[in-house]
Formats: sequence, C-alpha cells, structure tokens
Amino acid sequence: EGNFDYKADSQYAKSMKNFEAISDFARSKTVKQQREYLPIFSVRDELLNVIRENRIVIIVGETGSGKTTQLTQYLYEEGYTKYGVIGCTQPRRVAAVSVAKRVSEEMSCKLGEIVGYAIRFEDCTSENTVLKYMTDGVLLRESLNEADLDQYSAIIMDEAHERSLHTDVLFGILKKIVARRRDLRLIITSATMNAQKFSEFFGGAPIYSIPGRTFPVDTIFSKTPVDDYVDMAVKQAIAIHLQQPPGDILIFMTGQEDIMATCVLLNERIAELGTAAPKIKVLPIYSQLPSENQAKIFEKSDIRKCVVATNIAETSLTVDGVKYVIDTGFCKLKVFNPKIGMDALQITPISQANANQRQGRAGRTGPGICYRLYTDTIYREDLLENNIPEIQRTNLANVVLLLKSLNIDNLLQFDFMDPPPQDNILNSMYQLWILGALNDTGGLTDLGKKMVEFPLDPPLSKMLLESEKYRCTSELLTIVSMLSVPSVFYRPKDRETDADSAREKFFVPESDHLTLLNVYNQWKNNGYRSDWANEHFIHVKALRKVREVRAQLLDIMNSLRIEEMSCGNNWDMVRKVIASGYFHNSAKIKGIGEYVNMRTGIPCILHPSSALFSLGYTPDYIVYHELTMTSREYMQYVTAVDPYWLAELGPMFFSTKDTFREIDRKRRNEKKMQAEEDMKRIQSTLLNQTQSVE
Ligand code: ADP
Ligand code: MG
Repeated sequence: EGNFDYKADSQYAKSMKNFEAISDFARSKTVKQQREYLPIFSVRDELLNVIRENRIVIIVGETGSGKTTQLTQYLYEEGYTKYGVIGCTQPRRVAAVSVAKRVSEEMSCKLGEIVGYAIRFEDCTSENTVLKYMTDGVLLRESLNEADLDQYSAIIMDEAHERSLHTDVLFGILKKIVARRRDLRLIITSATMNAQKFSEFFGGAPIYSIPGRTFPVDTIFSKTPVDDYVDMAVKQAIAIHLQQPPGDILIFMTGQEDIMATCVLLNERIAELGTAAPKIKVLPIYSQLPSENQAKIFEKSDIRKCVVATNIAETSLTVDGVKYVIDTGFCKLKVFNPKIGMDALQITPISQANANQRQGRAGRTGPGICYRLYTDTIYREDLLENNIPEIQRTNLANVVLLLKSLNIDNLLQFDFMDPPPQDNILNSMYQLWILGALNDTGGLTDLGKKMVEFPLDPPLSKMLLESEKYRCTSELLTIVSMLSVPSVFYRPKDRETDADSAREKFFVPESDHLTLLNVYNQWKNNGYRSDWANEHFIHVKALRKVREVRAQLLDIMNSLRIEEMSCGNNWDMVRKVIASGYFHNSAKIKGIGEYVNMRTGIPCILHPSSALFSLGYTPDYIVYHELTMTSREYMQYVTAVDPYWLAELGPMFFSTKDTFREIDRKRRNEKKMQAEEDMKRIQSTLLNQTQSVE
C-alpha cells in the first residue's frame, strides 16, 4: 500500500513513445504547456504526496485550476492504474462527456480507449479504459452490482460542492467502502471553500487547497429589480459588445427555453444593428444540446463569443477568455412540490454561493466585470447563503429503491451528510408502495426488486414490467425509450407551420404516448431511414438514440427473462399499462379542456403540444406523465384511460362506484380521508419498521 513510485515505464510513457506522427508533437507540446500553466501543476508533487499518505483527501481549488482534467492524469502517471481503474464522477452528463473528451485529447488517445466515459444509456469505455469519467448516478448503480467497487483503485468525487442527490448518497456508501478496502483512494473535490463539512464527515480527512490565480472582478448590481431577465440580459450583452474592449461574454440563464430565446433575440438585435456593428458569435450550452454543438464553446475564435449557459458553466465547465459575466440571478431546480406530491422543475433564485461562483468566471484570465441583473438588496437579503442540497428538496423514490436493494433497510439511520427530511423519505416510500414496489412493512416486493434493475424512474420501470402481463412489451419498450430522450420533433424557425402539420400526421387522438409509438414504428417501417425522418421534421439523431436506449432496456428485460412481444394493433392494452404506472397522475374532465387532478383536486390543463389538445379531443379520464408549472399547471404526455382501469390498478385511491357516479362532496371527502388514513397507516408501519431494525 502507498508504494506508487513514478516510473518511466508507466503506461503513459509507453503511450507517449508510441506517439505516431511528428506533426502531432508540435500540438502536444502546446498541450503540455497548457497543462503546466494550470495552478494545480505547481503543487502536483505535494498533492500526490498527500494522496499517497491519506486514504481520503479533500481538494479545494478555484474553478479552472485543473482538478477535473489533471488529477486523473496525475494518478495515472503515478502508476495508480496498475491496481485498477481511476473513476471520476460528475453530477452532470455534459461535464462527464466534455471532460473525458478533453483529457483524451491531452493524452493523445482515442476517446473510449485509455480515457472513457459512462453516462446513463451511453457507455464509451473499453477494456483498456483506466481513466473513467462518469455521472455520479452511474457509479451509484455500479455499487449495486459490485458492492466494494473492486475495479477501482481510486475514486474522485468531483464537484462535491454541488451536493447532487447521487453524490450525497455515494458519500455514505463510499465511506463504508473505504473502511473495508484499505487499498482504495477516495478524493473529494470542491470548488468552494466550505470543505470543512466534507472533512468532518470523512473522519477529519485532510483538506488540501490549490493556490488560486484570480483577477479582480468589478461587480455591478442592477439599480432596480428586473422584470424580464431575458430581455435585460440581451440589452446588457449588446451594451458590452458595443462599448467594452475585447473579451468573451458569459450569460447565466435558467434552462433550455430561456437560453434559446436569448440566443434568438440577441442575434436579431445584432442583425438590426446592420453590417457596421462588429460581429459576435452566440453559443448556447445546456445539457440536452447535442454534443457536437457543446464542443463549440471551447473553439478558439477571432470574433467575440457570447456563451449563454445554464449553471453548468458555474463550476463544471470552464470557458477560457471570459471577461464579462451577466448573471440573471436564477436557475432551474428540481424541487419537490408538496402541492402535487411530486418533483417539478422550477425557476428559482440562486444562492449567494452561486452568485459568487458566477462572478468569479469573469476573472480567470484577467480583470473582468460581472453584471448582476438584481439589486444589491436582493443579493444581501433575499438570496440564501448556500444551496439546499438536492437530497433535501427532491423525491427520493429512486434512491429509496436503490438503498433498499443494497440491503440498507434502515433509511432513517443511513449515514447522510445532511439527512433528508423524514417526510421526504416517507413520501417516497409511499409512492413506491402505491406502485407495488414495497410491501406493507416497507420491504422490497418481487416487483420492486425487478424495478431496481432499470435506470429509470419507478413509474417507467413499473410500466415495462407490467407490460409482460398484457403481452405488449415491445410497445412499452418503445414508449419508455421515447420518454427517456429529448423530444424527437424538430421545429425550425420560419418553418413552424410545416413542422406542426407534419407532426399532426402522427397524432393518435387518445394518447401522446401512442403518438410517440406511432412515430417510432413508422420510422422503423421505413427502414430507420434518415431522409424519412428529415422529411417528417423528426430529429433522426434523437430517434437513433431511442433505438439504442430501447436495445439496452430490452437487454435488461431479457436478463429478467422477459421477452419482447407485440400486441399488434390492440393499443388499448398499451394504454392500460400506461395507467398502471401513472394512475397517481390521473385527472377527470371539468370543463372544455380543463381537468382536475383526481387525488388533489388541483385544476390542470392539456399542454398545447398534446395531440389531444390539437385535435380537441377531451376524454373524461386521463393520466399524464408529468406536470410543468409555469403560469398554469400543464399536463405533459397525456393518455385517455378507462375509469375501470384506475379502480383496478389503483385501488387505494379509486373505486368503480365513485369513478362512475358523480360523487357528492361528502363521499369525496370520505374518500380523501380514507386515502390520508391509509397513508398515515403505511407511513407509521414503515417508520416503525425502519426504526426497529438496526
Ligand atoms: P477545474 O476542474 O479545477 O475547474 P478543469 O480541469 O475543468 O478545472 O479545467 C482546466 C482547464 O482545462 C481550464 O482552463 C479549461 O479551459 C480547460 N478545459 C477543460 N475542458 C476543456 C475542453 N473541453 N476544451 C478546451 N479546454 C478545456
Ligand atoms: Mg472541475
């Protein structure tokens, strides 16, 4: 243990010798210079000493100091890969892919060989891979099958300050693994200074700080609160572009829609300025953006770049050359919404910690300016000091399922750095119970054990498993895969009408899910052709992804001895299976296009993109995939259902009597009270059980 001499015969040295073309040498030299210029390089040897002498180390360093791209390579050069793979986890998919790509370039090897990455539904590694970047979710799943993570010699938990749900769960799991495996190195990295908490959690592990190299940043607050941050950000970007010296601009937006709106508006306003105005390159970056477009933000450019990003650019990705930051003060977060009893993506004010990270992005290569589109008072009085960890604000159904299958029954006593509120755990257990994944005493049912195998939300895996009964696994595989990728429909600007009418041709009146199935089947019947997809305004890349995901899910089904079978044209069965996963999201018609949620009584409406909405078809009973909350509660992906099915599949909520007759208020209240009592009873059983076991 601890004997990792730096040897000239390391694999890295070998791969350097095999270095093919001379012309590559010039390039690699500049890469070498780039690597040596990073702040982390100046402390390389000291850092490696600390890692050699301590099994757990916390490393703190400014964003851009080289933690993510260099640490894995240092460990490699030091010979750690002789004993196993070096894993580096990222909370974000985009970061895992982009960083792996960068490191493979720095090491002049093909991505997927020595350096690879793994994200959900995409494994770009081979048996030669020894530096593996992955999402924290992927590592968590690996721990299911390999309880001690034996293949790894070192694990870097990167971006720990993000406190993503999976990172937080991994903390507890890894702490135990390190206690068992004396040969494993665990490195936790964080971009912020409050690493004390990590150190305490990991038994006083040493904190190593990489000396920073930052330049002063002027911060300019808005004088009055801003109404429309998209418009304001565009105005500010144009003002900078026309008045300020060269330097790239980075705008922090909330999510994809706001980012696209900003890019469109910015390009329009620039075009209005005419040819006299200097050129600018507007580049979006968000997680669902195709990866070849993501790479563009790193390309060198002679003209000014304006990158419009989600908070991914806060710490996980560094764009060099940024001199101006525009901070809207908002981000999009997944938050558990007690009103609807589920998670919803919500636009939320950032924390002061976020604001300071964003500001710091302007001072990486020289002095910069940060424009905050909120007032000084809002910053001081309204913004929280730190983020609320995801584990404390989201649905934990998936995590509960994973932990249960790791035989961690006593969830309330799991070693969480910040335990989730008890209500969160119980509510998630309740959701798993209504789906049939947990029994009355909180143990995993057979169904629950099978559900764990799928990297999917519990209602989706439930549908896949349920489809066996109705002999329509083929149809459900397609639908679940379609729901697991970004929308396949393509709607280019200026051709919206053509795109919409192309899409309408796929509509199945009673179901958005069946509409998705229809699109995929037609593509398949047309030989999976890309020209067919283009003609019909469908993203062929997205469809190809669906096909890959589908094949992977089918593999899992086969491993559970479930075969692919089709119900042909009997799509009623498919709708029934959809109801089996989503009966908790059922709604009943109230007026024209207006529904009320059957459990909560909350009004909700069809999303304009729904086939049902477009065709004006309003069945009495529907289930929906999710609610998005904007000005109103919109149901997305809706399917008409038979009320008998609801009573059959969700007996804890519905009975045929009241689904048919208009129930009077008293009956409804009784029903509601009954459901609440059920919930209390289940919760107290689960709670008693979790408390009594150690
Ligand atoms: P940290 O993890 O400490 O924030 P990184 O290792 O991510 O730092 O980044 C170190 C440097 O590598 C940054 O200056 C960044 O510009 C550069 N870099 C990272 N990813 C890429 C990429 N995909 N393309 C070009 N440069 C990159
Ligand atoms: Mg990093």
